[in-house]
Amino acid sequence: MIVVLKQNPNPAQLDSLIAWLEEKHIEVNKSVGTTHTILGLVGDTAAIDPDLISALGIVEDVKRVQEPYKHANRKFHPEATVVQVGDAKIGGGTLTLMAGPCTVESEAQIVEIAKRIKASGASILRGGAFKPRTSPYSYQGMGEEGIALLKTARAETGLPIAAELTDSAQLPLFADVDLIQVGARNMQNFALLGVLGRQEKPVMLMRGHCATYEEWLMSAEYIMAGGNHNVILCEGGIRSLEPSTRYALDLAAVPILRRLTHLPILVDPSHAASRSWLVPEIAPAAVAAGVDGISAEVHNDPEHAVMDGPQSLDPDTFDALAKKLTALHDYLG
Ligand code: PEP
Ligand code: MN
Repeated sequence: MIVVLKQNPNPAQLDSLIAWLEEKHIEVNKSVGTTHTILGLVGDTAAIDPDLISALGIVEDVKRVQEPYKHANRKFHPEATVVQVGDAKIGGGTLTLMAGPCTVESEAQIVEIAKRIKASGASILRGGAFKPRTSPYSYQGMGEEGIALLKTARAETGLPIAAELTDSAQLPLFADVDLIQVGARNMQNFALLGVLGRQEKPVMLMRGHCATYEEWLMSAEYIMAGGNHNVILCEGGIRSLEPSTRYALDLAAVPILRRLTHLPILVDPSHAASRSWLVPEIAPAAVAAGVDGISAEVHNDPEHAVMDGPQSLDPDTFDALAKKLTALHDYLG
């Protein structure tokens, strides 16, 4: 349920409305906008009589919300959410570039990539340390050492670092990581989402490869319901019948989610494209669709990359792409 307040509501009346709702075990989320203040009510609102609230002098309108996601719903929070990741900001009209290798391989590799992407305008370094692999026999990542090397790259460049967490037991190792990635395969790991909701670090939630928008937003809701509202959504493609790309990049997700949610939306063209030449072909379309940022795989030596080399951009190609994307974003305004 949403309560839209009249302009400049009487503070004492507002406090007593909130206290009355909280007595009924309703969580009240106040969102102060440029014109109106909105109260988003979460909980068992079936027992609340909307007419009773509408009758109050400070209330302009009361609406029931049909969607099952509340905290993530734009109706609850009309202003775009901006998530701070180290010195970088994601959301609210800027274009954030995040880049880095699929997996951290060595200090020389990650530091060189970090320096190159920073010079190209990226503001977040991504790199995997715990890799979710389809096969248990495939390389699983450097683990703790990979996280340590990401921190070395951050110390060298000042770039905040993002890495995927595959198990809540890894959380202590992420205490000094700036952005936690929940991979596509874990999008509906509800226990993991619950744990990430009870801590404050920003979370980038990849879309599950078979997930609908509503399922994806319900996963965001799991994190937000725990109190952590620093959630970023990332579209990386969905399973389709077409075998020439690993996943089909669903760019309609960007404008549709923009209406449904206030959370920032990124696009990862690399994992969908699965071939490096295709990444610069499709990434501008994501910018044109209105995305808040791009997450791209970049490797200093893609041919010898341990993982996802065929889809990784070399630093020069990333540099050209970053310039193009930034120019396009500026042009579109
Ligand atoms: C990745 O970002 O390199 C990755 C493997 O992501 P996901 O787990 O979402 O496939
Ligand atoms: Mn990868």
